[in-house]
Amino acid sequence: MFYKSLLIKYAEIGTKGKNRFMFEDALIKQMRRALKHVEGEFQISKESGRIYVEALGDYDFDEAVEELQKVFGIAWICPMVQIEEKDFENLKREVVSYIDQVYPDKHFTFKVDSRRADKNYPVPSEQMNRDLGEVILEAYPEMKVDVHKPDVYVRVEVRNQVNIYSQMIPGPGGMPVGTNGKAMLLLSGGIDSPVAGYMIAKRGVKIDAVYFHAPPYTSERAKQKVVDLAKLVAVYSGPIQLHVVNFTDIQLYIYEQCPHEELTIIMRRYMMKIAEHIAKETGSLALITGESIGQVASQTVQSLAATNEVCTLPVFRPVIGFDKQEIVDISEKIHTFETSIQPYEDCCTIFVAKHPVTKPNINIIHKSEMKLQEKIDEMMAAAIETREVIWCD
Ligand code: ATP
Ligand code: MG
Repeated sequence: MFYKSLLIKYAEIGTKGKNRFMFEDALIKQMRRALKHVEGEFQISKESGRIYVEALGDYDFDEAVEELQKVFGIAWICPMVQIEEKDFENLKREVVSYIDQVYPDKHFTFKVDSRRADKNYPVPSEQMNRDLGEVILEAYPEMKVDVHKPDVYVRVEVRNQVNIYSQMIPGPGGMPVGTNGKAMLLLSGGIDSPVAGYMIAKRGVKIDAVYFHAPPYTSERAKQKVVDLAKLVAVYSGPIQLHVVNFTDIQLYIYEQCPHEELTIIMRRYMMKIAEHIAKETGSLALITGESIGQVASQTVQSLAATNEVCTLPVFRPVIGFDKQEIVDISEKIHTFETSIQPYEDCCTIFVAKHPVTKPNINIIHKSEMKLQEKIDEMMAAAIETREVIWCD
């Protein structure tokens, strides 16, 4: 492969002042993890506001780029040529040969954009722009300069070495995972919650997950589907610790004691309570759900308020304002869609009433929940105690 190095540009983490090194280190950690899956050996280094990936020997360029495109915090991946010999005459030859290698067809406009980070370099950047532009035009008369809207910026950075690059491949943006605390995702087997987890992880938040199942009403295969989804989200978020909670007894108890049209909403409240308990126990600072206003009866504004009422941690609902199709689009992009649409039963759907309340009255819900008083605390403690923890990577 012609390119031996990649220049990694980050966006927002550049603005973090003194904490920048923490962000850079977190980014490098995630990059290392991503590149583990790629054929070849890589060295990652940083130099004042720049991160470099250098291939030590043969490697698969496309695969490396594809993996890096999953690392939150990367704004741009720039395939780059690095030259150690900084002499300006040599640099001219290198730039001309770079253009030849990268652009077989030379019918395009360009602008040279030079930067002199090494202030001792004898040629000022303005002059570098002019002189390099000139030698390029001499070598390839079919190319044209356009200083306002060039097709290609030929970027030349003089540092300890000289970096030459012109291609910029977009990264996923966001912030490196691990720089913004940890949150607990309520992960079902549906389309929405994996997308919600992805979106919060993209902001640098580490993710744990909790899944409620109801054996024997829900199958082992339904559980496996959630494990598969957690692994797919983990491609972006890093390893996810999945807490699988047996919800059967609680669901049956609610079913016995409470009006059936309130079942879903009461169940959702207990899910949130249990999730919050595990979150606090394991260091998560918030909950995440895939709820979207109005999508189903349990997601009307009134229902969301009723669900929210039991939580003291903030609840992040990143897809709250999205239409279903918008959520589907993201799930396709992150490759969770195919798994999400596999038809396995969900614990929520098993006991649903024909006509669930859509505007729950919180006082009435409280009253119904009084009927659970005798056993519910004990049952919740048992559900938390007996949970299974699965490492998804
Ligand atoms: P999803 O597509 O994420 O399953 P949904 O449209 O099916 O969402 P609901 O079933 O009402 O909606 O669930 C709303 C949210 O509650 C989900 O996005 C998820 O965060 C959480 N949730 C629902 N069921 C479960 C479950 N069995 N285990 C863990 N979390 C759940
Ligand atoms: Mg669901």
